[in-house]
Amino acid sequence: VKKKGGQYEKQARPVKQAAVLGAGIMGGGIAYQSASKGTPILMKDIKEEAIALGLKEARKLFAKQVERGKFSTEAMAERLTNIRPTLAYGDFGHVDLVVEAVVENPRVKGAVLAEVEAAVGEETILASNTSTISITRLAESLERPENFCGMHFFNPVHRMPLVEVIRGEKTGDAAVAATVAYARAMGKTPIVVNDCPGFLVNRVLFPYFGGFSRLMEQGADFAHVDKVMERFGWPMGPAYLLDVVGLDTAVHAGEVMAEGFPERMGSLGGEGEKSAIQVMFESERLGQKNARGFYAYE
Ligand code: NAD
Repeated sequence: VKKKGGQYEKQARPVKQAAVLGAGIMGGGIAYQSASKGTPILMKDIKEEAIALGLKEARKLFAKQVERGKFSTEAMAERLTNIRPTLAYGDFGHVDLVVEAVVENPRVKGAVLAEVEAAVGEETILASNTSTISITRLAESLERPENFCGMHFFNPVHRMPLVEVIRGEKTGDAAVAATVAYARAMGKTPIVVNDCPGFLVNRVLFPYFGGFSRLMEQGADFAHVDKVMERFGWPMGPAYLLDVVGLDTAVHAGEVMAEGFPERMGSLGGEGEKSAIQVMFESERLGQKNARGFYAYE
């Protein structure tokens, strides 16, 4: 951990217009959070269905806030207009900060970041929501790496207070400052961390997933492990958490972690064979995103 977020804020350029790339679990959540706290946000995806799903999720979250009396119906309708869905980069010229939240694949992210850099202004900050990929590595595809950092939210975005702001080798102070300030404007608690695969939280979390996967490979019952971990005092067990995260995202992120720390982290299990988590992924049990993971969902 480098510095507390507050030390950067004095230098921050305010984010008046944001954008998010990807309208999936994370992109949709980021759009909702930004919109509900009053910062307009463009939400771009390559698939119309993904945008429709992202908007549906945002509407559901706003409706819950109305039920709880936190927003009037009018305020909800107004805040919802803060999210502008799009399939193109046409309106990106005036965006102050873009959060990239597309699939966890270094090649795809590199291409998307280069594409958006060409569409935004020279001062626009680009921030990746990658779970594990080194920011220094992703910056290699950019012309202005000083304007790039990590902005790692946790799932579900509206409930998880922490945001890791990651400083890559070439990240400038202005990028960190703007990202810290935007995280705070979204009601989050930013911490500025050094760059490495998995940053801070996932360096702790992925060995735990690997341990769980190995238990499964030795015949453990996932629901039993979940119950035990709940009794241990954690809000949910590893199987349920993997369903929330998405088994595809966990597998992709696990590959990056295993590549980054081959000896210390190992993989997500399956030494010499496929890990239990990999088998789930290949059986298209992706978790809550497709309603079937370890558990079944409506
Ligand atoms: P997801 O599969 O739910 O969504 C990804 C979205 O990106 C899809 O809607 C897809 O259509 C879209 N997309 C793909 N290529 C695109 C492009 N070129 N331009 C715009 N959109 C594109 O994935 P997710 O769980 O939301 O994860 C997104 C990112 O957030 C990943 O890097 C992941 O590691 C990270 N993350 C995920 C979690 C989690 O718990 N799921 C937590 C923190 C961070």
